[in-house]
Amino acid sequence: MIKHSISLSSNQYALWFVVNRGRIWLNAQGQLPQGIFANLTLSAEPDQVCLIGELATQPVYLVVNHDYIADEAAWVTPRELLDNGDDVFQLAARAVQVALFLQTHRFCGQCGSAMNLVSWELAALCSKCGHRCYPRIAPCVLVGIAHHGKILLARSSRHRKGFYSILAGFVESAETLEQAAVREVKEEVGVDITNLRYVGSQPWPFPHSLMTGFIADYAGGDIICQPQEIEEAHWFDLAALPEVPSIQTLSGKIIMQLQQNAGNKKAT
Ligand SMILES: [Zn+2]
Repeated sequence: MIKHSISLSSNQYALWFVVNRGRIWLNAQGQLPQGIFANLTLSAEPDQVCLIGELATQPVYLVVNHDYIADEAAWVTPRELLDNGDDVFQLAARAVQVALFLQTHRFCGQCGSAMNLVSWELAALCSKCGHRCYPRIAPCVLVGIAHHGKILLARSSRHRKGFYSILAGFVESAETLEQAAVREVKEEVGVDITNLRYVGSQPWPFPHSLMTGFIADYAGGDIICQPQEIEEAHWFDLAALPEVPSIQTLSGKIIMQLQQNAGNKKAT
């Protein structure tokens, strides 16, 4: 049986993710706070505290905080914890996503009554109409396309000049990941792809995406950018890339894998 809540007066030693509007609080030493709740010197209602996992046998709790943020520097986004290792980033991603879930499911979307957290699973339940909600996860596909030692990279309207990445898009209702990959690439840059291979996945809490990564072969078509989404897209030599996402991100890993594949091909 999973117990999500904790008595705030308890002396349980834990690691705490204090989340306020998608950002995580670091203590004066620039670290995630550890210890008992009372030492955190912040207030919280019991329904704003939730067990979200374990790190090195230590329980990890989320505390949803609504205080005014006075010291901006002490609050970071999960992205700023990418360098702290996969385990910490994953817990940070879970903390901000569950915090958003708690904030946005206080009332039932079907009948408007107050909702309560279920004690044995992470879900909110309406005691009046029985409507049950789980934290939202939005699957997204990333596609790295290679062709004759080149990679297709695009700059979206959200990215600064000079920064390029592989293509990405959200999965639509009743669509497979593979269908979404083929559709998104066609919509965003007008080219056809084939031979999709799964690479891996990564939670991406901005605010609740699950990235799934593929590599694919180019099958035809000229680059025609979708005007609302893509500012520019080009085939770049895999040996001379522009600025691309860091290796801690799934996009960065896919780009590196395509570089390695091209290097191996050259060597044989
Ligand atoms: Zn209801």
